[in-house]
Amino acid sequence: MPSDNNYEYYKVLQCSRDSSQDEIKRAYHRLALIHHPDKNSANSEKFLEIEEAWRILSQPNSRRKYDAECRQAELESENILIHERISLKDLKTEDQKLSFPCRCGNNYLINKDDFNNDDETVYIPCQECTFFIAIDR
Ligand SMILES: [Zn+2]
Repeated sequence: MPSDNNYEYYKVLQCSRDSSQDEIKRAYHRLALIHHPDKNSANSEKFLEIEEAWRILSQPNSRRKYDAECRQAELESENILIHERISLKDLKTEDQKLSFPCRCGNNYLINKDDFNNDDETVYIPCQECTFFIAIDR
């Protein structure tokens, strides 16, 4: 997926990744009315795009999966190196922080705050080198 296609479905619905399900639903209804082929036959391609975006973003599960795919594509386009994919339970607790050893000998340090958003996967850079760790929750 080319990087300029990232989060394309949100652009189609004129929403952002932070939009609530309700905002997405309202945007979909508004746009579907404007671009409905019954009203505007020249725009049926646009209407199909809107339908497809809605099909994915209307379901929390497929929306999360789509977000994760876009995030992954974004990281790949930035040439970020993923050292390892782990899950939350693989992290060690040190003082108030969570950590995981990097292969350079230093550590990834993770704050509890890093998990405040709804992303299914959180990417943390190594303190020392250019590697990132991907943490699935
Ligand atoms: Zn490192």
